[in-house]
Amino acid sequence: MTSIAILGSGMAGMGASHRLKQEGLPAVVYDMKGHYGGHTASYVDASGFVFDEGPHISFTKDARIQQLFADNVNGEYEVIHANVNNYWKGSWIKHPAQCNLRGLPTDFTVKMLTGIIEAHYTESPPATNYEEWLVASFGRPFAETFPMQYGRKYHTTEASNMSIDWLGPRLYKPSLEEVLAGSLSASTSDVHYISDFRYPTRGGFVSFLRPFLDGVDLRLNHRLVHLDPRSRTLRFADGVQVGYDHVISSIPLPELIRVIDQAPLDVVEAAERLACSTCVIVNVGIDRSDISDWHWTYFYDDDFCFSRISFPHMLSPNNAPPGTGSIQCELYFSSKYKPLDCEPEACIPRAIADLKRCGIVRETDRVLFSSVLVAKYANVIFDLERAGALRVVHGYLDEIGVRYCGRYGEWGYQWTDEAFKSGESAAQQVLDAPLMARG
Ligand SMILES: Cc1cc2nc3c(=O)[nH]c(=O)nc-3n(C[C@H](O)[C@H](O)[C@H](O)COP(=O)(O)OP(=O)(O)OC[C@H]3O[C@@H](n4cnc5c(N)ncnc54)[C@H](O)[C@@H]3O)c2cc1C
Repeated sequence: MTSIAILGSGMAGMGASHRLKQEGLPAVVYDMKGHYGGHTASYVDASGFVFDEGPHISFTKDARIQQLFADNVNGEYEVIHANVNNYWKGSWIKHPAQCNLRGLPTDFTVKMLTGIIEAHYTESPPATNYEEWLVASFGRPFAETFPMQYGRKYHTTEASNMSIDWLGPRLYKPSLEEVLAGSLSASTSDVHYISDFRYPTRGGFVSFLRPFLDGVDLRLNHRLVHLDPRSRTLRFADGVQVGYDHVISSIPLPELIRVIDQAPLDVVEAAERLACSTCVIVNVGIDRSDISDWHWTYFYDDDFCFSRISFPHMLSPNNAPPGTGSIQCELYFSSKYKPLDCEPEACIPRAIADLKRCGIVRETDRVLFSSVLVAKYANVIFDLERAGALRVVHGYLDEIGVRYCGRYGEWGYQWTDEAFKSGESAAQQVLDAPLMARG
């Protein structure tokens, strides 16, 4: 019997084991944590608040994945139309700001519009970095005020240090008519790349995964500490050692390379150059549910510690006790560009103070619940070093026959559905591979 090891039990690990299960091939899934789901884990507190590991909603357009998720929750999910806005220097602006400038000071709006119009009629050379792309797309005044400022908080580095191969539909490029209409009228179309989304009615986002575990040999609390590609063995922190015929890894590349026996120096150095943000997630529950009309809000100003806040109680009525509401704040750091400068717990009072300052939490509100979580690997940072370093790391893994998948194996900007499919493709590679004898 071929022995297949899957490292990581998040979306990618689930995708890999799902594909192998379809072919009747058993695999063992290992995860260092005491629970499965990776970033899609949900935390249910005894007081009744449910928080995911960062805001998680399913907005996949892939009908097959939609069906899989729907079946996993027996059709019990909410369908919600996304309302998204921005907070900038005391103003609440519908998202995206480039086509919702109405209501801002006239001289400011004129400056933004002039830049956008100039950019529209200017032929620019192909952009070589994110800043150039933003300036060519929106003009310098808007680019500097909104996306470059937000990017600095969210990606923890300058736009000039970032590539553009991650953009996809993320930044909406409106027509000039849309920009002008949005500066005159309060009624604008919803053009966010997430329009309608789904969320499980019960149990938080992780409920979309649960049945994937049926029949899966899942070994929790197994942190990989050593991988020997020659003898094809894995060793875990508790001393357990196993052999493998195939290994599929969804664990972050820098962590994986660090534990590979005799990985070449250039590969080790390349892996260390891969940058990723760390997200400190502050969860707050209060004694009121009418907190916001918006599902999430982007924060631009430097003096607000969070980049984004969202409201889990608006995703499902079962995410908070009746009559209460919940807020999730995301604060971004990175070891490469902006190391976390305090104990994570210290972020709780900072976040609550900022929630009060912008009026989301009122002085009269009672805080019923608060907690903090750290997602060490959050968003891959597409800095200018990423592509070259990734080629070296992936080239080496291909050479030694270690398959990689998921957001931190492919080292990309994958959403849950993409991570799942990436796991399925890694499993397909295993299914297509000739069986080699273990050394
Ligand atoms: C803040 C935030 C919000 C997001 N919101 C959304 C959203 O709304 N919708 C959406 O579709 N996507 C969202 N995403 C993206 C989504 O979380 C990812 O695409 C997906 O969860 C990635 O799954 P994965 O399996 O690739 O990685 P992970 O979920 O990180 O799984 C990797 C697993 O490997 C394990 N592991 C790590 N190291 C070791 C080791 N040494 N030994 C053993 N196990 C190890 C980890 O414990 C983990 O379980 C969001 C991401 C973040 C950070």
